[in-house]
Amino acid sequence: MTDVDLLVAGAGGGLAGALRAAELGQRVLVVDADRHHLRGNNTAMSTAMIPGAGSRYQRAAGIDDSPACFLADIERKTRGTAEPAVARALAEVSAELVEWLADHVGLPLELATDVHYPGHAVPRVHTVPGRHGSRLLAVLSEAARRHDLVDLLVPCRLTDLHPDGDAIRAVLRHPGGDTEEVTAGAALLATNGYGANAELVRHHLPEIAAATYHGGEHSTGDALRIGSALGARTACLDAYQGHAGLSATARTLVTWTTIMHGGFLVNRDGRRFGDETSGYSEYASVLAAQPGATGWIVFDLRIHELSTAFVDYKDAVEAGAVHTADTAEDLAAAISVPAGALRAELAEAAAVAGGERDRDRFGRTGFEAALAPPLRAVRVLPALFHTQGGLVVDDHARVLSQDGEPITGVYASGGAAVGISGRGTSGYLGGNGLLPALGLAYLAAAHAAGLSDGGEHR
Ligand SMILES: Cc1cc2nc3c(=O)[nH]c(=O)nc-3n(C[C@H](O)[C@H](O)[C@H](O)COP(=O)(O)OP(=O)(O)OC[C@H]3O[C@@H](n4cnc5c(N)ncnc54)[C@H](O)[C@@H]3O)c2cc1C
Repeated sequence: MTDVDLLVAGAGGGLAGALRAAELGQRVLVVDADRHHLRGNNTAMSTAMIPGAGSRYQRAAGIDDSPACFLADIERKTRGTAEPAVARALAEVSAELVEWLADHVGLPLELATDVHYPGHAVPRVHTVPGRHGSRLLAVLSEAARRHDLVDLLVPCRLTDLHPDGDAIRAVLRHPGGDTEEVTAGAALLATNGYGANAELVRHHLPEIAAATYHGGEHSTGDALRIGSALGARTACLDAYQGHAGLSATARTLVTWTTIMHGGFLVNRDGRRFGDETSGYSEYASVLAAQPGATGWIVFDLRIHELSTAFVDYKDAVEAGAVHTADTAEDLAAAISVPAGALRAELAEAAAVAGGERDRDRFGRTGFEAALAPPLRAVRVLPALFHTQGGLVVDDHARVLSQDGEPITGVYASGGAAVGISGRGTSGYLGGNGLLPALGLAYLAAAHAAGLSDGGEHR
């Protein structure tokens, strides 16, 4: 008899696995290394955008979508470099996951129809009011605390896993250094990636190593170390989500919807330097290469009002990060860029928005409307949010060994596992963080409980 059926290391997206397992009658222990994880981990810091392809919310909004359409978007964005079994499994479970989060966990989800993230063919990200991950995590955590079959041990760090017959022996370290061992039928590594580990970032992601890290401080790569000791295979370790819209003043995210609704990014010379709609993740390294590794998102009152749906954006406004001016000249003076350059950029964008030109000099075609006074600008920095590569898993989130066989009883999700963003930074689609975090945890729990085919370790 094991102490618990499922040990979950990491109370971010891993909580979806804990709740799903408990729903299936499993005894679950969740450990998290961070006392402040409800504010500090990546799920808490996120914008809470969760893709669900073919959800009832989409149907109600008259949006035709399917797992096949989503999978095609993933393949296009990653140029076919995403792990196919994982991408298919997540595309297929995404709508079920979103509806389960609403119906069984109690998340107040809605479809974000006003958001068009680069790479998604149709609106398919679902979110919570305020669009902040701390709200998402608070609901998950509260549901876990209420469930009789779930115990939470925080702060407590998983340091090692040892296969032990049909079970897994987990070594846990308490603050102060005491250790204890717990036996579990299965273990889910939901400890996120290695973004907070500067040495690993320099090694795998040199192009973004100098950027600001804006993710959970406990994302130190523990799953890589624990999994490697078990002989696990890793892949796509050069994959990451960057963002070119971290407010330099407020250190909160300036939503990329500022761009997708028609804004643009200029450098210290007041000039644009690429097609911002290629994606916010890949644009981080583009911004990092600009003078001073900084820039200004320029937009207007219409876009400002649309962006206030995001708590992070409102925080930037309250912190005084967003400048307002009645003319291009005044805005240029406020942000210390040459007025002539800024005027020229506004004119080119307006020409594309007004249909006088079909694209700008960088090939950008999408400018929703010409920017109109009063104008806005916010200074932004490039940031690394989280890493996307990790332990290779199968379609049940089982961790695979070097020879491709499942390692009995060991699962991984979220940043701990290989994601669906392929290689590098350009494969990241909005939602590629939370879907593997919540979705692989959900799939792992079902498999560990013997619900999906297999469950042979039990
Ligand atoms: C600003 C921002 C916005 C984002 N917006 C989105 C979005 O809208 N949509 C999207 O899909 N993705 C988004 N992401 C990415 C997304 O947040 C992450 O990909 C996802 O939350 C990762 O979930 P996780 O469960 O793997 O990690 P986390 O949520 O970080 O949870 C990991 C937990 O493990 C704990 N831990 C670490 N090591 C150990 C250990 N050894 N033992 C025990 N506990 C341990 C940590 O303390 C942490 O609480 C965003 C990220 C950021 C930074």
